[in-house]
Amino acid sequence: MTEELAEPYLRGVLATAGLDVEYVRGDGDTLYYRKGDDEVPVLDFVGGYGSTMLGHSNPEIISYARELLAGQTPIHAQFSRHPYANEVAAKLNTIIKRETGSDESYFAIFANSGAEAIEAAMKHAEFERYVRLEGLRAEIGANIEAVRAAVTDGTVAAAEANALIADVTAHNEALAGRTPLFLTPVGSFHGKLAGSTQLTYNPVYRVVFSALAAQARFVPVDEPGALDAVVESERRWLHDVAIDGGQVKVVQRPFPGFCAVVLEPILGEGGIHEMPATFVRDIQRVAAELEIPVVVDEIQSGMGRTGAFLASTHLGLRGDYYALAKSLGGGIAKAAVMLVRASRYQSNFEMMHSSTFAKDSFSCLIAAKVLDTLEAGDGEIYRTAESRGAELRNVLQDLMKEFPEVIKDVRGRGLMIGLEFLEQGEARSAILRELHGSGFFGYYLSGFLLREHSIRTFPTSSAVYTLRFEPSANISTADIAKLAEGLRDLCGQIRDTDGQRLAPV
Ligand code: PMP
Repeated sequence: MTEELAEPYLRGVLATAGLDVEYVRGDGDTLYYRKGDDEVPVLDFVGGYGSTMLGHSNPEIISYARELLAGQTPIHAQFSRHPYANEVAAKLNTIIKRETGSDESYFAIFANSGAEAIEAAMKHAEFERYVRLEGLRAEIGANIEAVRAAVTDGTVAAAEANALIADVTAHNEALAGRTPLFLTPVGSFHGKLAGSTQLTYNPVYRVVFSALAAQARFVPVDEPGALDAVVESERRWLHDVAIDGGQVKVVQRPFPGFCAVVLEPILGEGGIHEMPATFVRDIQRVAAELEIPVVVDEIQSGMGRTGAFLASTHLGLRGDYYALAKSLGGGIAKAAVMLVRASRYQSNFEMMHSSTFAKDSFSCLIAAKVLDTLEAGDGEIYRTAESRGAELRNVLQDLMKEFPEVIKDVRGRGLMIGLEFLEQGEARSAILRELHGSGFFGYYLSGFLLREHSIRTFPTSSAVYTLRFEPSANISTADIAKLAEGLRDLCGQIRDTDGQRLAPV
Protein backbone atom coordinates (compact mmCIF):
# COMPACT_ATOMS: atom_id res chain seq x y z
CA MET A 1 0.00 0.00 0.00
CA THR A 2 1.22 3.52 -0.85
CA GLU A 3 2.55 5.36 2.17
CA GLU A 4 0.06 8.02 3.18
CA LEU A 5 1.73 11.39 2.73
CA ALA A 6 -0.98 13.80 1.55
CA GLU A 7 -2.37 15.34 4.73
CA PRO A 8 -2.73 12.03 6.58
CA TYR A 9 -3.57 13.74 9.87
CA LEU A 10 -6.62 15.42 8.37
CA ARG A 11 -7.73 12.10 6.89
CA GLY A 12 -7.50 10.61 10.36
CA VAL A 13 -9.67 13.37 11.81
CA LEU A 14 -12.25 12.82 9.06
CA ALA A 15 -12.20 9.11 9.83
CA THR A 16 -13.27 9.69 13.45
CA ALA A 17 -16.53 11.16 12.15
CA GLY A 18 -16.87 8.59 9.36
CA LEU A 19 -16.26 11.20 6.68
CA ASP A 20 -13.14 9.75 5.02
CA VAL A 21 -14.82 8.32 1.93
CA GLU A 22 -13.28 8.52 -1.53
CA TYR A 23 -15.55 10.14 -4.06
CA VAL A 24 -14.92 8.91 -7.55
CA ARG A 25 -17.50 10.79 -9.58
CA GLY A 26 -19.82 13.78 -9.43
CA ASP A 27 -22.99 14.45 -11.41
CA GLY A 28 -25.44 17.27 -10.67
CA ASP A 29 -26.11 17.20 -6.93
CA THR A 30 -24.76 13.68 -6.54
CA LEU A 31 -21.29 12.50 -5.61
CA TYR A 32 -20.46 8.80 -5.82
CA TYR A 33 -18.08 6.97 -3.50
CA ARG A 34 -16.62 3.57 -3.91
CA LYS A 35 -17.67 0.65 -1.72
CA GLY A 36 -16.14 -2.60 -2.93
CA ASP A 37 -17.03 -2.80 -6.61
CA ASP A 38 -20.02 -0.51 -6.24
CA GLU A 39 -20.52 3.22 -6.50
CA VAL A 40 -22.72 4.60 -3.76
CA PRO A 41 -24.62 7.80 -4.62
CA VAL A 42 -24.55 10.60 -2.05
CA LEU A 43 -26.82 13.63 -2.21
CA ASP A 44 -24.47 16.60 -1.96
CA PHE A 45 -25.54 19.75 -0.09
CA VAL A 46 -21.97 21.01 0.45
CA GLY A 47 -21.70 21.81 -3.25
CA GLY A 48 -17.94 22.34 -3.19
CA TYR A 49 -18.42 24.99 -0.49
CA GLY A 50 -20.45 27.02 -2.95
CA SER A 51 -18.64 26.05 -6.16
CA THR A 52 -21.31 23.95 -7.83
CA MET A 53 -24.11 26.40 -8.50
CA LEU A 54 -24.37 24.63 -11.89
CA GLY A 55 -23.93 21.16 -10.37
CA HIS A 56 -21.05 18.69 -10.55
CA SER A 57 -19.90 17.90 -14.08
CA ASN A 58 -22.41 20.21 -15.70
CA PRO A 59 -22.81 18.70 -19.20
CA GLU A 60 -22.70 22.02 -21.07
CA ILE A 61 -19.61 23.20 -19.22
CA ILE A 62 -17.95 19.82 -19.69
CA SER A 63 -18.63 19.77 -23.40
CA TYR A 64 -17.33 23.35 -23.75
CA ALA A 65 -14.22 22.39 -21.74
CA ARG A 66 -13.66 19.42 -24.05
CA GLU A 67 -14.02 21.66 -27.08
CA LEU A 68 -11.49 24.13 -25.68
CA LEU A 69 -8.94 21.46 -24.84
CA ALA A 70 -9.42 19.66 -28.16
CA GLY A 71 -8.94 23.03 -29.89
CA GLN A 72 -5.60 23.47 -28.09
CA THR A 73 -6.64 26.58 -26.22
CA PRO A 74 -3.40 28.45 -25.28
CA ILE A 75 -3.46 28.04 -21.51
CA HIS A 76 0.07 29.30 -21.08
CA ALA A 77 0.29 32.51 -23.08
CA GLN A 78 1.30 34.89 -20.31
CA PHE A 79 2.27 38.46 -21.21
CA SER A 80 0.17 38.66 -24.36
CA ARG A 81 -3.27 40.01 -25.20
CA HIS A 82 -6.04 38.29 -23.24
CA PRO A 83 -9.34 39.09 -24.99
CA TYR A 84 -11.04 36.26 -23.09
CA ALA A 85 -10.17 37.89 -19.74
CA ASN A 86 -11.55 41.14 -21.08
CA GLU A 87 -14.78 39.34 -22.04
CA VAL A 88 -15.20 38.10 -18.47
CA ALA A 89 -14.51 41.58 -17.09
CA ALA A 90 -17.03 43.12 -19.53
CA LYS A 91 -19.73 40.58 -18.66
CA LEU A 92 -19.16 41.12 -14.94
CA ASN A 93 -19.37 44.89 -15.42
CA THR A 94 -22.70 44.60 -17.25
CA ILE A 95 -24.15 42.50 -14.43
CA ILE A 96 -22.77 44.62 -11.59
CA LYS A 97 -23.88 47.88 -13.21
CA ARG A 98 -27.37 46.45 -13.63
CA GLU A 99 -27.58 45.22 -10.04
CA THR A 100 -26.04 48.26 -8.37
CA GLY A 101 -27.53 50.89 -10.68
CA SER A 102 -24.04 52.40 -11.01
CA ASP A 103 -22.44 53.36 -14.30
CA GLU A 104 -18.86 53.33 -13.08
CA SER A 105 -16.68 50.55 -14.50
CA TYR A 106 -14.62 48.06 -12.52
CA PHE A 107 -11.19 46.88 -13.61
CA ALA A 108 -10.42 43.18 -13.17
CA ILE A 109 -7.41 41.42 -11.66
CA PHE A 110 -7.58 37.64 -12.10
CA ALA A 111 -6.53 35.00 -9.57
CA ASN A 112 -6.68 31.24 -8.99
CA SER A 113 -8.49 30.95 -5.68
CA GLY A 114 -10.73 32.90 -3.37
CA ALA A 115 -7.98 33.67 -0.87
CA GLU A 116 -5.76 34.87 -3.69
CA ALA A 117 -8.45 37.29 -4.90
CA ILE A 118 -8.73 38.62 -1.34
CA GLU A 119 -4.96 39.01 -1.11
CA ALA A 120 -5.01 40.96 -4.38
CA ALA A 121 -7.69 43.21 -2.84
CA MET A 122 -5.59 43.66 0.32
CA LYS A 123 -2.55 44.59 -1.74
CA HIS A 124 -4.48 47.00 -3.92
CA ALA A 125 -6.03 48.66 -0.86
CA GLU A 126 -2.56 48.99 0.67
CA PHE A 127 -1.34 50.51 -2.58
CA GLU A 128 -4.10 53.14 -2.31
CA ARG A 129 -3.15 53.80 1.32
CA TYR A 130 0.55 54.07 0.41
CA VAL A 131 -0.21 56.66 -2.28
CA ARG A 132 -2.25 58.70 0.22
CA LEU A 133 0.39 58.42 2.91
CA GLU A 134 3.20 59.39 0.55
CA GLY A 135 1.14 62.36 -0.61
CA LEU A 136 0.70 63.53 2.98
CA ARG A 137 4.35 62.98 3.76
CA ALA A 138 5.34 64.99 0.68
CA GLU A 139 3.09 67.87 1.79
CA ILE A 140 4.52 67.76 5.29
CA GLY A 141 8.05 67.58 3.83
CA ALA A 142 7.35 70.72 1.80
CA ASN A 143 6.08 72.50 4.93
CA ILE A 144 9.21 71.46 6.83
CA GLU A 145 11.30 72.89 4.00
CA ALA A 146 9.35 76.15 4.31
CA VAL A 147 10.22 76.27 8.02
CA ARG A 148 13.89 75.61 7.22
CA ALA A 149 13.80 78.47 4.71
CA ALA A 150 12.29 80.70 7.40
CA VAL A 151 15.14 79.71 9.75
CA THR A 152 17.65 80.71 7.04
CA ASP A 153 15.79 83.99 6.55
CA GLY A 154 15.90 84.56 10.27
CA THR A 155 12.10 84.93 10.44
CA VAL A 156 11.80 82.04 12.96
CA ALA A 157 14.14 81.05 15.80
CA ALA A 158 16.55 78.29 14.68
CA ALA A 159 16.92 76.21 17.86
CA GLU A 160 13.20 75.93 18.52
CA ALA A 161 12.33 75.22 14.88
CA ASN A 162 15.01 72.56 14.48
CA ALA A 163 13.96 70.75 17.66
CA LEU A 164 10.37 70.78 16.53
CA ILE A 165 11.26 69.49 13.06
CA ALA A 166 13.23 66.64 14.67
CA ASP A 167 10.24 65.72 16.88
CA VAL A 168 7.76 65.90 14.02
CA THR A 169 10.00 63.82 11.76
CA ALA A 170 10.55 61.12 14.39
CA HIS A 171 6.83 60.97 15.22
CA ASN A 172 5.85 60.68 11.55
CA GLU A 173 8.50 58.06 10.77
CA ALA A 174 7.26 55.88 13.63
CA LEU A 175 3.65 56.21 12.52
CA ALA A 176 4.43 55.55 8.85
CA GLY A 177 6.07 52.27 9.85
CA ARG A 178 2.92 51.08 11.63
CA THR A 179 1.30 48.01 10.07
CA PRO A 180 -1.99 48.91 8.42
CA LEU A 181 -5.30 47.68 9.75
CA PHE A 182 -8.35 46.15 8.13
CA LEU A 183 -11.90 46.33 9.46
CA THR A 184 -13.98 43.17 9.16
CA PRO A 185 -16.98 41.67 11.00
CA VAL A 186 -16.68 39.19 13.84
CA GLY A 187 -17.16 35.72 12.29
CA SER A 188 -15.64 36.63 8.90
CA PHE A 189 -13.90 34.13 6.67
CA HIS A 190 -11.74 35.51 3.88
CA GLY A 191 -9.26 32.72 3.22
CA LYS A 192 -6.24 31.02 4.71
CA LEU A 193 -3.21 32.50 2.94
CA ALA A 194 -0.71 34.54 4.95
CA GLY A 195 -2.56 37.84 4.54
CA SER A 196 -6.17 36.74 4.19
CA THR A 197 -6.05 34.44 7.22
CA GLN A 198 -5.57 37.56 9.35
CA LEU A 199 -9.01 38.70 8.15
CA THR A 200 -10.48 35.33 9.10
CA TYR A 201 -12.01 35.48 12.56
CA ASN A 202 -11.50 31.88 13.69
CA PRO A 203 -8.40 32.01 15.94
CA VAL A 204 -7.44 28.44 14.98
CA TYR A 205 -6.68 29.65 11.45
CA ARG A 206 -5.27 33.02 12.40
CA VAL A 207 -3.37 33.33 15.67
CA VAL A 208 -0.25 31.25 14.92
CA PHE A 209 0.38 33.33 11.80
CA SER A 210 -0.44 36.79 13.11
CA ALA A 211 3.19 38.01 12.97
CA LEU A 212 3.24 37.41 9.22
CA ALA A 213 0.84 40.07 8.04
CA ALA A 214 -1.31 43.16 8.55
CA GLN A 215 -3.96 42.79 11.22
CA ALA A 216 -7.72 43.11 11.31
CA ARG A 217 -9.95 44.67 13.89
CA PHE A 218 -13.02 42.44 14.15
CA VAL A 219 -16.23 44.35 14.69
CA PRO A 220 -19.42 42.86 16.18
CA VAL A 221 -22.22 43.47 13.68
CA ASP A 222 -25.08 43.78 16.16
CA GLU A 223 -23.64 46.23 18.70
CA PRO A 224 -24.57 49.81 17.83
CA GLY A 225 -21.54 52.06 18.07
CA ALA A 226 -18.99 49.20 18.06
CA LEU A 227 -17.60 50.13 14.66
CA ASP A 228 -17.12 53.77 15.61
CA ALA A 229 -15.49 52.75 18.89
CA VAL A 230 -12.95 50.55 17.07
CA VAL A 231 -12.15 53.31 14.61
CA GLU A 232 -11.82 55.84 17.43
CA SER A 233 -9.43 53.65 19.41
CA GLU A 234 -7.15 53.30 16.38
CA ARG A 235 -7.22 56.94 15.31
CA ARG A 236 -3.72 58.43 14.98
CA TRP A 237 -2.40 61.79 13.78
CA LEU A 238 0.53 62.74 11.62
CA HIS A 239 2.29 65.92 12.68
CA ASP A 240 2.64 68.76 10.21
CA VAL A 241 4.27 72.15 10.73
CA ALA A 242 3.03 75.66 10.00
CA ILE A 243 4.38 79.15 10.65
CA ASP A 244 1.97 81.39 12.48
CA GLY A 245 2.97 84.92 13.56
CA GLY A 246 6.69 84.15 13.51
CA GLN A 247 6.15 80.92 15.51
CA VAL A 248 6.41 77.36 14.26
CA LYS A 249 3.41 75.28 15.26
CA VAL A 250 2.54 71.58 15.08
CA VAL A 251 -0.63 70.83 13.14
CA GLN A 252 -2.34 67.42 13.35
CA ARG A 253 -3.36 65.63 10.17
CA PRO A 254 -5.33 62.35 10.12
CA PHE A 255 -3.04 59.35 9.62
CA PRO A 256 -4.37 56.83 7.08
CA GLY A 257 -4.02 53.77 9.34
CA PHE A 258 -6.85 51.70 7.87
CA CYS A 259 -6.55 50.00 4.50
CA ALA A 260 -10.06 48.77 3.82
CA VAL A 261 -13.27 47.31 5.16
CA VAL A 262 -13.61 43.70 4.01
CA LEU A 263 -16.92 41.90 4.46
CA GLU A 264 -19.13 39.07 3.25
CA PRO A 265 -22.77 40.11 2.67
CA ILE A 266 -23.68 36.78 4.26
CA LEU A 267 -21.09 35.23 6.56
CA GLY A 268 -20.46 31.79 5.07
CA GLU A 269 -17.99 29.89 7.22
CA GLY A 270 -19.06 32.00 10.19
CA GLY A 271 -22.47 30.31 10.31
CA ILE A 272 -24.63 31.81 7.50
CA HIS A 273 -25.50 35.20 8.97
CA GLU A 274 -26.68 38.00 6.72
CA MET A 275 -25.23 41.41 7.57
CA PRO A 276 -27.82 43.54 9.40
CA ALA A 277 -29.00 46.63 7.51
CA THR A 278 -27.77 48.95 10.27
CA PHE A 279 -24.26 47.49 10.06
CA VAL A 280 -24.22 47.85 6.28
CA ARG A 281 -25.15 51.54 6.67
CA ASP A 282 -22.46 52.05 9.33
CA ILE A 283 -19.82 50.36 7.20
CA GLN A 284 -20.58 52.53 4.18
CA ARG A 285 -20.53 55.67 6.32
CA VAL A 286 -17.27 54.83 8.11
CA ALA A 287 -15.52 53.77 4.90
CA ALA A 288 -16.54 57.07 3.29
CA GLU A 289 -15.31 59.03 6.32
CA LEU A 290 -11.98 57.21 6.34
CA GLU A 291 -11.81 57.35 2.52
CA ILE A 292 -11.06 53.62 2.41
CA PRO A 293 -12.51 51.06 0.00
CA VAL A 294 -15.31 48.65 0.89
CA VAL A 295 -14.23 45.19 -0.29
CA VAL A 296 -17.26 42.94 -0.76
CA ASP A 297 -16.28 39.28 -0.55
CA GLU A 298 -18.85 37.48 -2.73
CA ILE A 299 -16.65 34.41 -3.09
CA GLN A 300 -19.26 32.15 -1.50
CA SER A 301 -22.43 34.26 -1.65
CA GLY A 302 -22.06 35.52 -5.23
CA MET A 303 -22.69 33.97 -8.65
CA GLY A 304 -26.47 33.94 -8.27
CA ARG A 305 -27.02 31.58 -5.38
CA THR A 306 -29.01 34.04 -3.29
CA GLY A 307 -31.42 35.03 -6.06
CA ALA A 308 -29.29 37.89 -7.39
CA PHE A 309 -25.84 37.70 -8.93
CA LEU A 310 -24.44 39.49 -5.87
CA ALA A 311 -25.85 38.82 -2.41
CA SER A 312 -24.89 42.41 -1.56
CA THR A 313 -27.56 43.59 -4.02
CA HIS A 314 -30.29 42.48 -1.57
CA LEU A 315 -28.68 44.56 1.18
CA GLY A 316 -28.00 47.72 -0.79
CA LEU A 317 -24.32 47.15 0.03
CA ARG A 318 -22.07 48.79 -2.57
CA GLY A 319 -18.51 47.60 -3.08
CA ASP A 320 -15.49 49.55 -4.24
CA TYR A 321 -13.91 46.17 -4.80
CA TYR A 322 -15.59 42.77 -5.32
CA ALA A 323 -14.05 39.31 -4.98
CA LEU A 324 -15.57 36.34 -6.84
CA ALA A 325 -14.37 32.74 -7.12
CA LYS A 326 -15.93 29.29 -6.44
CA SER A 327 -18.84 28.93 -8.94
CA LEU A 328 -17.10 31.31 -11.38
CA GLY A 329 -15.17 28.24 -12.57
CA GLY A 330 -18.39 26.31 -13.30
CA GLY A 331 -17.35 23.49 -10.96
CA ILE A 332 -14.40 22.68 -13.24
CA ALA A 333 -11.87 25.50 -13.56
CA LYS A 334 -10.03 27.23 -10.76
CA ALA A 335 -10.97 30.82 -11.38
CA ALA A 336 -11.16 33.94 -9.26
CA VAL A 337 -11.33 37.64 -9.94
CA MET A 338 -10.99 40.86 -8.00
CA LEU A 339 -12.73 43.95 -9.32
CA VAL A 340 -11.78 47.54 -8.48
CA ARG A 341 -13.91 50.64 -9.10
CA ALA A 342 -12.31 52.74 -11.86
CA SER A 343 -12.02 55.87 -9.70
CA ARG A 344 -9.89 53.99 -7.14
CA TYR A 345 -7.89 51.89 -9.55
CA GLN A 346 -4.09 52.06 -9.39
CA SER A 347 -3.16 50.95 -12.90
CA ASN A 348 0.46 50.38 -11.91
CA PHE A 349 -0.79 47.53 -9.72
CA GLU A 350 -0.80 45.45 -12.93
CA MET A 351 2.99 45.73 -13.02
CA MET A 352 3.31 44.51 -9.45
CA HIS A 353 0.84 41.66 -9.19
CA SER A 354 0.48 38.50 -11.30
CA SER A 355 0.42 34.73 -11.22
CA THR A 356 1.64 32.19 -13.76
CA PHE A 357 -1.77 30.52 -13.75
CA ALA A 358 -4.21 33.43 -13.46
CA LYS A 359 -6.07 34.98 -16.42
CA ASP A 360 -5.46 31.89 -18.57
CA SER A 361 -7.63 31.14 -21.59
CA PHE A 362 -9.21 27.98 -20.20
CA SER A 363 -10.46 29.38 -16.90
CA CYS A 364 -11.52 32.69 -18.44
CA LEU A 365 -13.43 31.05 -21.29
CA ILE A 366 -15.13 28.71 -18.82
CA ALA A 367 -15.97 31.68 -16.59
CA ALA A 368 -17.46 33.54 -19.57
CA LYS A 369 -19.57 30.49 -20.38
CA VAL A 370 -20.72 30.29 -16.75
CA LEU A 371 -21.73 33.96 -16.80
CA ASP A 372 -23.68 33.42 -20.04
CA THR A 373 -25.43 30.43 -18.47
CA LEU A 374 -26.40 32.47 -15.41
CA GLU A 375 -27.67 35.37 -17.48
CA ALA A 376 -29.59 33.21 -19.98
CA GLY A 377 -33.37 33.67 -20.16
CA ASP A 378 -33.14 37.04 -18.43
CA GLY A 379 -31.42 35.52 -15.40
CA GLU A 380 -33.88 32.65 -14.98
CA ILE A 381 -31.41 30.75 -12.80
CA TYR A 382 -31.43 33.54 -10.18
CA ARG A 383 -35.21 33.15 -9.84
CA THR A 384 -34.81 29.39 -9.70
CA ALA A 385 -32.22 29.69 -6.90
CA GLU A 386 -34.63 31.90 -5.00
CA SER A 387 -37.61 29.55 -5.35
CA ARG A 388 -35.61 26.35 -4.73
CA GLY A 389 -34.09 28.06 -1.72
CA ALA A 390 -37.52 29.05 -0.41
CA GLU A 391 -38.67 25.43 -0.70
CA LEU A 392 -35.60 24.15 1.14
CA ARG A 393 -35.95 26.79 3.81
CA ASN A 394 -39.63 25.98 4.37
CA VAL A 395 -38.78 22.34 4.88
CA LEU A 396 -36.09 23.26 7.43
CA GLN A 397 -38.45 25.65 9.19
CA ASP A 398 -41.07 22.89 9.51
CA LEU A 399 -38.37 20.72 11.02
CA MET A 400 -37.50 23.42 13.53
CA LYS A 401 -41.16 23.53 14.57
CA GLU A 402 -41.13 19.76 14.96
CA PHE A 403 -37.89 19.74 16.99
CA PRO A 404 -37.73 22.96 19.01
CA GLU A 405 -35.56 21.19 21.61
CA VAL A 406 -32.94 20.33 18.96
CA ILE A 407 -32.90 23.12 16.35
CA LYS A 408 -32.15 26.70 17.23
CA ASP A 409 -32.46 28.56 13.93
CA VAL A 410 -32.84 28.44 10.17
CA ARG A 411 -31.11 31.25 8.30
CA GLY A 412 -29.87 32.42 4.94
CA ARG A 413 -31.05 33.44 1.55
CA GLY A 414 -31.72 31.50 -1.65
CA LEU A 415 -29.45 28.49 -1.82
CA MET A 416 -27.15 29.58 0.99
CA ILE A 417 -28.90 28.25 4.06
CA GLY A 418 -27.78 27.38 7.57
CA LEU A 419 -29.49 25.15 10.12
CA GLU A 420 -28.24 25.84 13.63
CA PHE A 421 -28.54 23.18 16.34
CA LEU A 422 -28.90 23.95 20.04
CA GLU A 423 -25.67 23.55 21.99
CA GLN A 424 -25.26 20.28 23.82
CA GLY A 425 -22.55 21.28 26.31
CA GLU A 426 -25.02 20.84 29.19
CA ALA A 427 -26.90 17.87 27.72
CA ARG A 428 -28.16 15.03 29.92
CA SER A 429 -26.47 12.58 27.58
CA ALA A 430 -22.74 11.97 28.16
CA ILE A 431 -22.32 11.18 24.44
CA LEU A 432 -23.76 14.53 23.36
CA ARG A 433 -21.60 16.34 25.93
CA GLU A 434 -18.56 14.52 24.59
CA LEU A 435 -19.38 15.38 20.97
CA HIS A 436 -19.78 18.99 22.06
CA GLY A 437 -16.42 18.90 23.86
CA SER A 438 -14.63 17.59 20.77
CA GLY A 439 -15.18 20.93 19.04
CA PHE A 440 -16.43 19.03 15.99
CA PHE A 441 -20.10 18.63 16.89
CA GLY A 442 -21.50 19.31 13.42
CA TYR A 443 -19.02 16.95 11.80
CA TYR A 444 -20.50 14.06 13.79
CA LEU A 445 -23.93 15.08 12.53
CA SER A 446 -22.47 15.06 9.02
CA GLY A 447 -20.98 11.61 9.60
CA PHE A 448 -24.38 10.26 10.69
CA LEU A 449 -26.15 11.75 7.66
CA LEU A 450 -23.54 10.30 5.33
CA ARG A 451 -23.54 6.81 6.89
CA GLU A 452 -27.24 6.44 7.45
CA HIS A 453 -28.80 8.56 4.73
CA SER A 454 -26.16 9.06 2.02
CA ILE A 455 -26.43 12.81 2.47
CA ARG A 456 -23.43 15.09 2.41
CA THR A 457 -23.53 18.33 4.37
CA PHE A 458 -20.89 19.94 6.59
CA PRO A 459 -20.98 22.48 9.33
CA THR A 460 -19.73 25.94 8.45
CA SER A 461 -16.04 25.82 9.28
CA SER A 462 -15.98 28.40 12.09
CA ALA A 463 -19.44 27.71 13.55
CA VAL A 464 -19.70 23.96 13.98
CA TYR A 465 -23.28 23.91 15.28
CA THR A 466 -24.58 25.20 11.95
CA LEU A 467 -25.02 22.80 9.05
CA ARG A 468 -24.76 24.39 5.61
CA PHE A 469 -26.92 23.74 2.54
CA GLU A 470 -25.57 25.07 -0.73
CA PRO A 471 -26.78 22.73 -3.48
CA SER A 472 -26.98 23.54 -7.19
CA ALA A 473 -29.85 25.54 -8.66
CA ASN A 474 -31.18 22.25 -10.01
CA ILE A 475 -31.83 20.66 -6.64
CA SER A 476 -35.12 18.78 -6.93
CA THR A 477 -38.15 18.60 -4.67
CA ALA A 478 -37.44 14.88 -4.25
CA ASP A 479 -33.87 15.64 -3.11
CA ILE A 480 -35.12 18.21 -0.63
CA ALA A 481 -37.59 15.65 0.70
CA LYS A 482 -34.75 13.14 1.09
CA LEU A 483 -32.77 15.71 3.07
CA ALA A 484 -35.78 16.38 5.29
CA GLU A 485 -36.11 12.66 6.00
CA GLY A 486 -32.44 12.37 6.96
CA LEU A 487 -32.56 15.46 9.16
CA ARG A 488 -35.75 14.26 10.87
CA ASP A 489 -33.99 11.03 11.78
CA LEU A 490 -30.96 13.00 12.98
CA CYS A 491 -33.06 15.31 15.18
CA GLY A 492 -34.86 12.28 16.58
CA GLN A 493 -31.50 10.70 17.43
CA ILE A 494 -30.52 13.78 19.40
CA ARG A 495 -33.88 14.21 21.13
CA ASP A 496 -34.89 10.61 21.77
CA THR A 497 -31.80 8.41 21.90
CA ASP A 498 -29.21 10.68 23.56
CA GLY A 499 -27.25 10.70 20.31
CA GLN A 500 -26.01 7.12 20.66
CA ARG A 501 -25.75 6.53 16.92
CA LEU A 502 -23.92 9.82 16.37
CA ALA A 503 -20.88 8.65 18.31
CA PRO A 504 -17.60 7.99 16.47
CA VAL A 505 -17.61 4.76 14.48
N1 PMP B 1 -13.91 34.13 1.16
C1 PMP B 1 -15.03 33.44 1.44
C2 PMP B 1 -16.28 34.19 1.78
C3 PMP B 1 -15.02 32.04 1.42
O1 PMP B 1 -16.14 31.37 1.71
C4 PMP B 1 -13.84 31.37 1.07
C5 PMP B 1 -13.76 29.85 1.05
N2 PMP B 1 -14.63 29.17 1.86
C6 PMP B 1 -12.71 32.14 0.77
C7 PMP B 1 -12.78 33.51 0.83
C8 PMP B 1 -11.42 31.48 0.39
O2 PMP B 1 -11.52 30.87 -0.85
P1 PMP B 1 -10.49 29.73 -1.27
O3 PMP B 1 -10.79 28.55 -0.41
O4 PMP B 1 -10.78 29.51 -2.72
O5 PMP B 1 -9.13 30.27 -1.04
